[in-house]
Amino acid sequence: MDAIPSTRSDDNAPVGGALVPDKDFWLTDGNVVLICESVGYRVHQSILSRHSNVFKDMFAVGTAEGEETFEGCVTLRLHDSPEDFAFLLKALYDLRYPPYGTKISLSRLRRLLLLANKYLLEELRSQIIEHLRVLFPSKRSGLTSMPRALVNPDDFSPLLGIQIGQESNVPAIIPSAFLCAATYGVSEILGSNTREDQDVSFQARQACLKFKETLLEIADKEICEPLIWKNGELLYCDDTEPCEGFPPQALHDFGAIYTRNTNGIFYIKFRELIRQKYAEKDALVCERCWARAEVVEEKIRDQIWEAVPVSCGFKDWAAVEEAQTRTNEDGMSES
Ligand SMILES: [Zn+2]
Repeated sequence: MDAIPSTRSDDNAPVGGALVPDKDFWLTDGNVVLICESVGYRVHQSILSRHSNVFKDMFAVGTAEGEETFEGCVTLRLHDSPEDFAFLLKALYDLRYPPYGTKISLSRLRRLLLLANKYLLEELRSQIIEHLRVLFPSKRSGLTSMPRALVNPDDFSPLLGIQIGQESNVPAIIPSAFLCAATYGVSEILGSNTREDQDVSFQARQACLKFKETLLEIADKEICEPLIWKNGELLYCDDTEPCEGFPPQALHDFGAIYTRNTNGIFYIKFRELIRQKYAEKDALVCERCWARAEVVEEKIRDQIWEAVPVSCGFKDWAAVEEAQTRTNEDGMSES
């Protein structure tokens, strides 16, 4: 990048040192120069105003007399990082950017969403939320969907997902972000300070622990107990085969899949676990018993999924959707 020396003849030269024009956004017919740190973006007031009332108001004020100018353009200083601001301009100027269905760094999505909130860029905000919702779905099938696998970024972090949901008011992504983050151990939840997690607040981490505790308790008391332990169907077999139903140890293993950790619904199923654990006992029970256990397991998974929003303070998934719709109607969140 070439530095453009600030012109001495201009009394209100933008910076003491040199203004570095951004390599993508120094548009020669632009009529405003926005400056982030030492990087300048020569862009169009009309384009930015079209997308954002914040820019519109800013230009209305900025064009009053006495403003700084650079090569005849009004200049305005912003307090955003140059890297993030260039990304924002790319989203405004380039069609379909960020491209749908591709991997985009989660921390970048976060920073872009914060900028979209700040400048009231509603379309960009919706677009980012749509992307985040693929990563943090509100349908159980979404967790293992192909679109999710395709956009899953290298810096995927469910803890950061919680942070984004809270700070940018995106309720739709909060429950499954909690679910995924709760698969971490306590020390990881409280102490993870990898690059992607350094912006996660202590409050979000604490909320995650509480979620984990609540969900596991519901899984144990309200789901597995009635469906496994108090379910006579699994403990006895009315078949005339030599089958006597599942032995208690096997049922204990069954419950443990769903009550030890919150990753049960992503984990291998009961039958697979038994196959791995007791290789010699594949013929543990008769096929009718296995079929019954499979029906029970599907119910457990459904009920745990239903308990996910409940464990983070929503009435149910429908309430999550309503909360999301309200934020869309309200326009921008208070960030
Ligand atoms: Zn049986």
